[in-house]
Amino acid sequence: MKPAPFDYAAPDSLAEALSLAAAHGSDGKLLAGGQSLIPAMNFRLLQPAILIDLNRITGLGGIERTASGGLRMGAMTRQAQVERDARVAQFAPLLAEAMPQIAHPQIRNRGTIGGSMVHADPAAELPVVAVALDAVFEVASQHGRRRIEAKAFFQSLFMVDVAPDEILAAIEFPAWPTNSGWAFVEVARRRGDYALAGVAAVVTLDGGGKCRHARLVYLNLGDGPVDAQVAAGLLQNESLTPDAIEAAANHAAAHEIDPTGNIHASADFQRHLARVLTRRALTTAAARATHFPS
Ligand SMILES: Cc1cc2nc3c(=O)[nH]c(=O)nc-3n(C[C@H](O)[C@H](O)[C@H](O)COP(=O)(O)OP(=O)(O)OC[C@H]3O[C@@H](n4cnc5c(N)ncnc54)[C@H](O)[C@@H]3O)c2cc1C
Repeated sequence: MKPAPFDYAAPDSLAEALSLAAAHGSDGKLLAGGQSLIPAMNFRLLQPAILIDLNRITGLGGIERTASGGLRMGAMTRQAQVERDARVAQFAPLLAEAMPQIAHPQIRNRGTIGGSMVHADPAAELPVVAVALDAVFEVASQHGRRRIEAKAFFQSLFMVDVAPDEILAAIEFPAWPTNSGWAFVEVARRRGDYALAGVAAVVTLDGGGKCRHARLVYLNLGDGPVDAQVAAGLLQNESLTPDAIEAAANHAAAHEIDPTGNIHASADFQRHLARVLTRRALTTAAARATHFPS
């Protein structure tokens, strides 16, 4: 398939791109890495009148430490750069663990962190990590900038809180909490495929080794990142024993996810995967929290 005809603009500055986005509204589409947008155009699922290419704009990419010890990433930062940056492994280890599980290296070389967040595929890894780590999104328009918490940013299937005249500028991950362990695990039919199911787990221990706080966020088991707050709450003030982990996994799989099933996996099989992956993720996260306290 080939795309329908479209115009093309390659602005040199964010201001110029915002002006074009405002002028064309929902007739225009922003082009980042093109790894989701171009296939959708080739299948004619999308037929924008104009592509506004963000690739020439300097200042929209790159990774830096924030004053509060977190990480700020420009929306155009390539996924491969996030994957290889030593600061990501040190200060956002959950993100580092998820990166190699996204697609294939060739796709990560072009695909951007911002493009994946805005595309908001329910099977994508990055939105799940953003919710699990309470990331903050910074969106620019001609009227200024606004900041949106991850749980509000992802609205539903392929829907985020970014208007047609806005551009996602950056994503900020807060400082990594001390005494915390993490795990990102998923199951895909073949390496590089979108996962049938997956989960991000973060646990924070108190001084006595009990769980002070936990997060469990799922991919491809609902309309977007599924934040299983009740299951995670079951772990609070508990020792992370196999029984406690089992109880949380059972609750999340039975009550908090909403798998629809597809040609590769029935909804029942996705629930089974969620249960098994949650057990694995929490066991790994608990061990890491114990052995790597800061
Ligand atoms: C074969 C294949 C396998 C894949 N497997 C996976 C996988 O396992 N997991 C996974 O997560 N992804 C997967 N992907 C998708 C890949 O990660 C894409 O890179 C990503 O979804 C989109 O990023 P992009 O930079 O290419 O964005 P684009 O495709 O350029 O854009 C995607 C959407 O975001 C909008 N957009 C982009 N940047 C901005 C911005 N700064 N502000 C506002 N809107 C913006 C675009 O207008 C478009 O609507 C796969 C892709 C392919 C082709």
